Amino acid sequence: MTQYVYRFGGGVSDGKGLSKELLGGKGANLDGMASIGLPVPPGFTISTPMCTRYYEEGEKFPPELNAEVASGIAHIEGVTGKKFGDASDPLLVSVRSGARVSMPGMMDTVLNLGLNDATVVGLATVSGDARFAWDSYRRFVQMYADVVLGLDHGAFEEALEIAKEDKGYYLDTEMESEDWQALVAKYLALVEELWGKPFPQDVHDQLWGAVGAVFGSWQSERAKVYRRINSIPHDWGTAVNVQAMVFGNMGDTSATGVAFTRDPATGERAYYGEYLINAQGEDVVAGIRTPQYLTTAARERAKAKPLSMQESMPVVYAELAKVFDLLEAHYRDMQDIEFTVERGKLWMLQTRSGKRTAKAALKIAVDMAAEGLITKDEAVMRVDPSALDQLLHPTLDPKAKRDVIVKGLPASPGAASGIAVFDSDTAEKRADKGQSVILVRTETSPEDIHGMHAAKGILTARGGMTSHAAVVARGMGRPCVSGAGSLSIDAAAKVARVGSREIREGDMLTLDGSTGEVMAGEVATIQPELSGDFGTLMVWADGSRRMKVRANAETPADAKVARDFGAEGIGLCRTEHMFFDAGRITAVREMILAEDEKGRRVALAKLLPEQRADFVGLFEVMAGLPVTIRLLDPPLHEFMPHAEADFEDVAKATGLTVDMLKRRAAELHEFNPMLGHRGCRLGVTYPEIYEMQARAIFEAACDLAVSPIPEVMVPLVATKRELELMKAVIDRTAEAVFAERGKRIDYLVGTMIELPRAALKAGEIAEVGAFFSFGTNDLTQTTLGVSRDDAARFLGVYVDQGIYERDPFVSLDIDGVGELVQIAADRGRATRPDIKLGICGEHGGDPASIAFCEKVGLDYVSASPYRVPIARLAAAQAALATG
Ligand code: ADP
Ligand code: MG
Ligand code: MG
Repeated sequence: MTQYVYRFGGGVSDGKGLSKELLGGKGANLDGMASIGLPVPPGFTISTPMCTRYYEEGEKFPPELNAEVASGIAHIEGVTGKKFGDASDPLLVSVRSGARVSMPGMMDTVLNLGLNDATVVGLATVSGDARFAWDSYRRFVQMYADVVLGLDHGAFEEALEIAKEDKGYYLDTEMESEDWQALVAKYLALVEELWGKPFPQDVHDQLWGAVGAVFGSWQSERAKVYRRINSIPHDWGTAVNVQAMVFGNMGDTSATGVAFTRDPATGERAYYGEYLINAQGEDVVAGIRTPQYLTTAARERAKAKPLSMQESMPVVYAELAKVFDLLEAHYRDMQDIEFTVERGKLWMLQTRSGKRTAKAALKIAVDMAAEGLITKDEAVMRVDPSALDQLLHPTLDPKAKRDVIVKGLPASPGAASGIAVFDSDTAEKRADKGQSVILVRTETSPEDIHGMHAAKGILTARGGMTSHAAVVARGMGRPCVSGAGSLSIDAAAKVARVGSREIREGDMLTLDGSTGEVMAGEVATIQPELSGDFGTLMVWADGSRRMKVRANAETPADAKVARDFGAEGIGLCRTEHMFFDAGRITAVREMILAEDEKGRRVALAKLLPEQRADFVGLFEVMAGLPVTIRLLDPPLHEFMPHAEADFEDVAKATGLTVDMLKRRAAELHEFNPMLGHRGCRLGVTYPEIYEMQARAIFEAACDLAVSPIPEVMVPLVATKRELELMKAVIDRTAEAVFAERGKRIDYLVGTMIELPRAALKAGEIAEVGAFFSFGTNDLTQTTLGVSRDDAARFLGVYVDQGIYERDPFVSLDIDGVGELVQIAADRGRATRPDIKLGICGEHGGDPASIAFCEKVGLDYVSASPYRVPIARLAAAQAALATG
C-alpha cells in the first residue's frame, strides 16, 4: 500500500532522503532539519500524490488516509505529551501547504487549529495566560473562516475594530482577556450567519476541513496564475504539513522572526533578518508591526533604535547563528528561515533556498565556490540566466536630479519608471497596452501576483524587507520599495498622498529599489558595470560552454554592445532594417515601384554605396569573426509609401506621376504578404536586388584590412533549386568583385531553415548550402499555422488550457517545431558532415530553448545583444547538464 503520511520531529524523520517532489518543499526541509537534530516542532506531511488522488476521487479523501493521519496525530501527541481535542491540555497544530516549489498562490496557513469552546479554557489554564488563550482562539476562528471557509474577512476585521472602539482602545494589545472572549462569541455568530452552519467544534472536523482546503487551493485562480507565470506544471499537486504549534506570542521572552543566512539583496556574507517580540509568525510576514533588526550591525547601519535580537536575546541569538551555519553547510546554499522563540526556547519552522536578487545570486555563487562550499561548475549552475537581465539593464544615473517624494525600504534593487496605478487589474490592462506601470499598494497579497508581474516596479506603504511585496518582487526581478510609511494610499480614489504632495493614477514615477527612494517623473539612467562577480562567473561559464554565442545586430552600435557582452560574431544581420533609414527609403520605394529591371537597377545603384557603408561599419566591429547577413526578406508592402507626401517624394525621384505610382502600388497589393512575395522569392524574381546586396557585402569585406567572414544567408528557402539559383547570383557577384579588387576573401553561402519543407528536404538543400540557420520565429509560425502578430488573442487561453506549455514564440515548441529542427540537423549533417548549424530566432536568448539547441548539437545560438550574457550562461548550463 502506498504511504502518504511522513512524520518528523522528536527524533523521527520518516521522509529522510525523500524528495521535494514527494514531500513538497516545506515538508522535505522540515524533515531535513529534524534529521540533522535541529529543534523542529513535531508534525507530519501528507505527500503530494495524495493531492492528485484527492482530485481523482472527486475531491474526496480515500478512506485509508484516516488511519495514517491518526498515526501522524498520535506521533505529535507522543512527542508533546498533549492530546488533540483534550479539554485540559490541548494539542494545537498548524496546517500548512507546501508545493514542490514555494508558491504564493497557495492556501494561507491556519494556525492554532484544535481550539474550541472547551479547549480554550484548558489552554488558558496550562499557559497561565487567559488573554493569550482567547486571543489565540479568535485568531484561529478568523483565519479558519477566511482561508478554509472562504468567508469575507472584512466582516471579522470590522467586528474587531468595533470591539476596540467600544472600549476606546487603539491597539490590539490593549484588548483584555474578557474583550477577546466577547469577540470570539461575535466571531462564532458571524460564522454561523455567513456560512449557514455553526463553526466546527470537533477538532477532527477542523483538521479535515483545513487539509481539504489546502488541496482545494491547488486549483484556485491565483495558484493557476502563479503556475502559468512561472511555468509550473498543473499536475504536480501540493503536500500538506500538520505541525504542533509553538508560540512566539507568550510574552517578552517569546518572539518570532525570519532570516536569511546571507544578505538576499547584495549577497554579502552576513546574517540578515527581522524579528518581533511577543508576536506570531504571520505578524512579521504581513508587516502589521514594523519588525526589528536581527543583528546589531544591521540596526546600527540603519540608525534604528529598537534593540536587535542579538542585543535583546543574546543566548537564543547565538544558538540561532549556529543553526544558520549548520543549515548552509547542510543545504550548501543560502537559506531563508522562519523561527519562533517560545519562552526562551528556539524552534525552527521553515528553511528553504532563499530568493535573491541577480546581484546577490552572482555574489553568493562566486563566494561559495571560493569558500569551497560548492564547485565552480555548481556556481555556474546556480545562477538563473534569465535573472541576469536585471543586471544588464541600466540603473539610475547618480548625477541625475532626483525629485524625491517619499522614501521607503530598498526591498528589491534596480530602477524603474512608469505611471502610477493603484490596483493589479489596471496594472495588467495598462501594461498590455504597452505602458510602463508602477504598482502602488498599501501592501500586496498573493492576489496581486498578476499586477506585480505586469508592473515595472512595486511601491508599498506598509511591510518590511521580508513582506510579501519584497519577497515576490525580488523573485520576479522587479524593483521594489516597501514600507514607505508616510505614504497614505486611497486605492478607491486612485490617489496617494504624502505631506502636501499627491500621486494620481497616470502620474510618472521613478523607483530606486536600491535606495528606497521614490521620485516624481522619469530619471536618467546609466549603463551597467559588467566586471566583478559577473565577470568571474562568465569566465567560468565560458570555460564549460560548447556552443558559440552570437548576436542579432545590424548597426555598429548594437554590434559594439554585443561584443562588450561577449558575442562571438553576428548570427543575424537583417539587411532590411538598413532600408528603413529616412535617407534611403525613397530609393527603396523607387526600386519596389519600378516597372522593370532597368528601373530597379537605377534605384539599386543609389542604394549600393549606402549599403556598402553599412557593412563597413558592422564589419569593422566584428573583424575576424563570422557575420551572417540575411539578404532582403520582408514582404515589400512593409516599405510601401502610404502618405501622399511619400508618393510625391518617389515621383520627384523617378519622374513618374503620383497616379502612376499609386496604380503600381495597387498592383503590388497582396492578400497574405507573410506568405507572399518575400524572402528568396524576391531574389528569384528580381535577382538584381540580391546581386546589389552581395556586391555591397563583398566590396565592404575587400576594402577592410581585417575582414570578418561573411556568411551570406538566403531567407525563406523551401527547395534546393531556389538556393541553387541564389547561390549562383552570389558566387558570380563575389567573383566579379574579387576580380575588380584583385583580392579574395573567404565566405560561405547558406540558408535559413524556416519552412517545414526546408526542414524535411534539408538533406538536398545541404548539397548547396554550407550552413543552416534556424529561423525559429517563422518556423514556428509556419509549423503551427499561427501568425505571431495575431496570436495574442488566443494564445493566453491555449497556455491556460495546457495546449502549449508556454508561449511557443518565447520558448521553442520542442515537441513540434523542435522535431523539425532535429530532422533538418540530422539530414543536413548526413549530406554535409561539417555543415554549420545555428539558431537566430527569438528563441536563441531563451534558456529552455538553448538547452534544446545543445541537445541537437547546434554550433551556435544567436540572441539580441542584451541577451548575449544570458545565452552564454544558459549555453554553459546546457553543456554541463548534458555532461
Ligand atoms: P508561508 O508558506 O506562507 O510562509 P507558513 O506555513 O510558513 O506559510 O506559515 C505562515 C506563518 O505561520 C509563518 O510565519 C510560520 O512560521 C508560522 N507558523 C506555521 N506553523 C507554525 C507552528 N506550528 N507554530 C508556530 N508558527 C507557525
Ligand atoms: Mg513560511
Ligand atoms: Mg524569417
